[in-house]
This record gives sequence, structure tokens and C-alpha cells, in this order.
Amino acid sequence: MAFFVASRSLLRRSSRPYFSSRRWFSSGVDGIAAAGYNVAGGPSFMRGTVFWEPNRPLTIEEFHMPRPKSGEILIKTKACGVCHSDLHVLKGELPFSSPCVIGHEITGEVVEHGAHTDNGIIKRFPIGSHVVGAFIMPCGNCFQCVKGQEDLCDAFFAYNRAKGTLYDGETRLYLRSNGKPVYMYSMGGMAEYCVVPANGLALLPNSLPYTESAILGCAVFTAYGAMRHAADMRAGDSVAVIGVGGVGSSCLQIAKAFGASEIIAVDVQDDKLQNAKMLGATHTINGLKEDVVGKIKEITGRGVDVAVEALGKPLTFMQCAKSVRDGGKAVMIGLASTNAIGEVDITHLVRRQIKIIGSYGARARQDLPQVVKLAETGIFNLQNAVTRKCKFEEANNAFDDLNHGKIVGRAVVEIM
Ligand SMILES: [Zn+2]
Ligand SMILES: [Zn+2]
Repeated sequence: MAFFVASRSLLRRSSRPYFSSRRWFSSGVDGIAAAGYNVAGGPSFMRGTVFWEPNRPLTIEEFHMPRPKSGEILIKTKACGVCHSDLHVLKGELPFSSPCVIGHEITGEVVEHGAHTDNGIIKRFPIGSHVVGAFIMPCGNCFQCVKGQEDLCDAFFAYNRAKGTLYDGETRLYLRSNGKPVYMYSMGGMAEYCVVPANGLALLPNSLPYTESAILGCAVFTAYGAMRHAADMRAGDSVAVIGVGGVGSSCLQIAKAFGASEIIAVDVQDDKLQNAKMLGATHTINGLKEDVVGKIKEITGRGVDVAVEALGKPLTFMQCAKSVRDGGKAVMIGLASTNAIGEVDITHLVRRQIKIIGSYGARARQDLPQVVKLAETGIFNLQNAVTRKCKFEEANNAFDDLNHGKIVGRAVVEIM
């Protein structure tokens, strides 16, 4: 039986008015947006994909049009990636407030700024501009943000990850039927519109397509953060990536961009390994057929400089820690279910100075524009990274396929 049952309500369409203007309101700076909502021809309602509880199918529901507050931007969502962290929530492996709108890897068009938003933000993201959203949306003002570690933003974890809200403790999503609040996983991107704190956005040049570029805000962002900050990678480093799905395969391309000498892709599916070669892997290892650690040492002589674990499993955690050279870095980016424990050989770690480093996302304002540049210049190939495109109504199927290992790279839902 399919993990997510197809639901009738997924096919239900709203009778939303067609809206073609690029501008709904004047900027919120003078308060016009706050006073004039829904009067300038924009729709009053939108559809969003709702997760209710584990093992219950996602449904598409109608919402009141979300309202951005100061420093936030309303985005007309164009595409949203299908990511494993959403799947963890859907399966109940990572607890999250529900009901919620999932989806955290988006591109879209700026349609409105919240009232009293700083002029600098309005100038940086004019109405009509194309943007990409990072799944970690930094508040910009907390202890970690001030230190430059936006990937650890206190407000993001305290409010969004812990409560499903933005940083005033409230969601921006309310059901049309009964006005009840629905929580937001990051910006709640699997919806026709979403509200994003401006600090979590970067401009997307018109030369980059909405659909493929959606993966920049999580898969590529996470890979960049792992290589740039956690691994502090240098040209000539040898790299192994264990688990080459959406995020892992992005790590291959980022490793290549950073000048890796050897890039070893490890997976248990031959189709993913085949795809990995196209993305820059110089060697591949099928973990079901070969001894992963032995083979990595055979290829590199003494182990890799940097190994990345992108699955969040105890076995691959151990393989990752064992496959680095003495003094090497084992970078863990795979989220696991809540109680998963990774084991490590203590004496080996101490004597051989093995560094085990956790890495989550990257720093939105610093890194996301860099990631966009890599795509813009073609150094990062988006076309090869996105292996499936589907319609808004097919989100259930996409997550079901992801759950069954049927998506080779990344699936993206197109929301037009
Ligand atoms: Zn993600
Ligand atoms: Zn912060």
C-alpha cells in the first residue's frame, strides 16, 4: 500500500480569481498595504498542502491570503522542492506542530512587503523580483545571527522548528473554512503563496528557471554549508559522499566546484551512482556489494580528507567517521529520527584526531547569494540535479516515491 493515500481533496480546486498584475499594492512602507488588503485585485484566498498527522494523506486546503508583517515578504510561490526533512515530518520521525503546511525549498515572485518594513529590504527585493528562499530564515538579531552564525539562529529554532510559527510566535496561515491556524514548516512553501522573513531570501536572476532553482534553498544550500563551513574544504581535497540523493548529489557538485581531487560517491542504488558520475563523482561504491571503508582507503591510500554523511543512519555515520584519513573531517548532514545514536571508536578518534562535525543548512544572507552565483554561471548544474518535476496536486505521489527511494536526484513541485 502506498504510504500516502491519494486523496480526493487533492484534486479540489479553488475558484480563485485569475490575477495577472505584478503589483498589488504600494510598498508597505507607508502603511497602504496594511489598509488595502484584497482591494487591489489580488486573490483573497490560496491553496496549500496540509499535513495533519502521520500516516494520514496530505490534503490541499484553502487559506485566507497570508499577511506579511514588518521585515517579511509575501511570495507568489512558483516551485517547491520535495525534501527528506519534510518526509521525516510526514512519517512522524521528527516531531513538528500540526496541522502544518510543509515545503521549505522555494522560488517565487515578490508580491508584497509587510507594513513598516525597512526601506533597504524593499529596495533589495522590489515587487515583481524573482527570489529563492533558504529553509533557515535568520531573524538577523539574535545572539547567533549577530555572531554571523545565521545557520544557528536562535529565533528560527525556538519559534519555527519548535512551534511552527514565525518570530512573533504566530503563524501566517489560517484556514478559509473555519479560520483555524495552521503551522508553517519553515515558510510553508508547498502553497500558492508564502510569507518569508526577508533575511531568508536571495534574488534569483531572470536567467535562472523557477522550477530547477527551488533546490538552491535547501539541497544546494546544505551542501554548500557543509563544504564551505563545516569541512572548510580546500582545492585538492579528496571527498567521499555517503548517500547521493538530493542533498548528497548536490555535495558532489559543490565538492567539484571547490576543486576536489577525488570525489567518491557511495550509495546502495546503482541508478543513483550512475547519476553521481554525471555530477562529478570520480569513483562510485555500492555499499551493498562492497566494503565502503575498505574501498575508500584503497582508492585514496589513507582515507579521504572530507567525508560527508547524508543519510542520518547509524551504520553510515560509523562508515563516515571511519573513512577519513588521520586528522580528516567527517561531516554529518543527514537528519535521523529523534532517538538515533551514532557510534564512534573513541581511541581512534582521539589518537588519529578525527573531527566529527555536524552541519545544518548554511548562512542565508552570506551563502545563498553565492549558491545562486554558482548556478548562474553554470558551475552548479541545476538541470542535472532535478530529476523529476510534478504538479501541485501530485505532491503526495512525489513524497511517496521519495519514501520508496524512487527519486534519483531531486523532485520539484511546480506551483503556477
Ligand atoms: Zn530540505
Ligand atoms: Zn537569529
